[in-house]
Amino acid sequence: MALMKALYVHAAVVALLLCSSVNFIQSPTDVFGPVALLEPTPSAARDFGAVVSDAPIAVMRPGSPADVARLLRALSSAGAGRRRPRAAVAARGAGHSLHGQAQARGGIVVETRALPRGVEVAAAASYADVGGGALWVEVLEACLRSGLAPRSWTDYLYLTVGGTLSNGGISGQAFKHGPQISNVLQLEVVTGTGEVVTCSPTQSPELFFAVLGGLGQFGIITRARIPLQVAPPKVRWVRAFYDSFETFSKDQELLVSTPELVDYVEGFMVLNEQSLHSSSVSFPAQVNFSPDFGSSSASGRRKVYYCIEFAVHDFQDRGSSAADHAVELVSGKLSYLRPHAYSVEVAYYDFLNRVRMEEESLRERGLWDVPHPWLNVLVPGHAAARFKDLLMATVVTQGDFEGPVLVYPLLTDRWDGNTSAVVPAAPDGVAYVFSVLRSTDPARCGRACVERILEQHRRVADEACRRLGAKQYLARQPSRAHWRDHFGPAWDRFVARKARFDPARVLGPGQGIFPWTD
Ligand code: FAD
Repeated sequence: MALMKALYVHAAVVALLLCSSVNFIQSPTDVFGPVALLEPTPSAARDFGAVVSDAPIAVMRPGSPADVARLLRALSSAGAGRRRPRAAVAARGAGHSLHGQAQARGGIVVETRALPRGVEVAAAASYADVGGGALWVEVLEACLRSGLAPRSWTDYLYLTVGGTLSNGGISGQAFKHGPQISNVLQLEVVTGTGEVVTCSPTQSPELFFAVLGGLGQFGIITRARIPLQVAPPKVRWVRAFYDSFETFSKDQELLVSTPELVDYVEGFMVLNEQSLHSSSVSFPAQVNFSPDFGSSSASGRRKVYYCIEFAVHDFQDRGSSAADHAVELVSGKLSYLRPHAYSVEVAYYDFLNRVRMEEESLRERGLWDVPHPWLNVLVPGHAAARFKDLLMATVVTQGDFEGPVLVYPLLTDRWDGNTSAVVPAAPDGVAYVFSVLRSTDPARCGRACVERILEQHRRVADEACRRLGAKQYLARQPSRAHWRDHFGPAWDRFVARKARFDPARVLGPGQGIFPWTD
């Protein structure tokens, strides 16, 4: 039955592709070989953002990179010589994009989760070879069996290796080790022309750097070699509270200037004290964590607090350790609202997997499978306070604001300028991540309300980019002109990379950078 269904869809797709005044495709088997194309599933037209839904004509679950190569070869040769490909292709990892970036309207979605996802740990050489469709949590679990772990993470681990390496991959370790795209030794990539290439900083470096942060435009990552470090059994995880953004950010910068002591630095805005008593900020529930600052200022205006979160790896099994000493030393230098600093010791795995708690909490409250109009902006350090004011004056003013607002510094020299990712020019080398991670409750915020939020975010992002030299992260830009502005001086290089690795513009239609239907 399943086979019949697959053959039916295969035939339907081939018929669609052949149904054109010019027959680009000579034989169906040239195109797809033995790989069945499947009827599009609802998930292929959906992502975490839940604001864009573009249906493909088919889905491919490749069993190997060769399957992907056959598809891309056929489609790109059909599109060569100024003729358009008959279908564009989007790689889809875990589908946690926000604006349809892993979708392909009328095209084919390649589900990378179907590719071999094995994690091979070379413990002696301290690296792991991992499938492009593996989730980071799978990579972590496999590496921990050898007492090792990657160095740079995202907050949430149920994202694929290929998906985060196509963007950047940032979390509280990025100040120390750089983003995930600065922590890759080698890649296996199927280019837009269907070539399977192993690349690294010394072997086919142009492809290697193009693909990292390349928004899925140049090739599909089928394997990655990730450097590892010794994993600590546990971490000391600390939170300290502030009532001044200036003091908060000064202390964050102090922390990122001490990478020999600290392993992780993040922070968030406390817009509503009540949110600290829910699990939505993912601090372990068993900790007596109930700071009470008094909920409003003397003027009657809602007072905003800030929380620094930092962590230190702890390698000692029992007794007081170097980690305790480091926490004590560092805390002594911070100017938080005394006595509001809280510390907990947690297993390393639980620390890295902390956002799972947030997912469970949102699922319980019916706020996971809902629209998520998120705004992620990287702001030069000198403009961080101005951007915070802009956010306060616009996006986070409403009383019904639901979701955390993360704020933490990155060091721009940890980003390799050869990759396709762009970060703001920051004269002092510091850029702040501002992540407005909003969930909208459909009972209170319907389609028009979500559109209003998105429009507001676009205005704020435009202003931040134009006036403050900020760069958006994870966003689908609304027009080609916006993309050109986003890449700035790196635009010509991005375009040249496209012409070289995906000249028929088969890949990544959901980003809206290179239209293939004109
Ligand atoms: P998808 O949404 O499936 O794809 C994203 C893009 O990458 C698409 O353009 C797609 O075509 C392309 N792509 C996917 N796989 C491949 C591949 N193998 N080869 C080439 N291109 C590919 N990001 C951070 O940096 N830090 C965080 O802490 C963080 N936390 C998050 C928490 C949540 C709850 C969510 C929903 C997202 C978070 N993100 C974070 C964003 C996340 O990194 C990106 O959305 C990422 O792309 C998601 O990976 P994915 O596997 O779901 O990718």
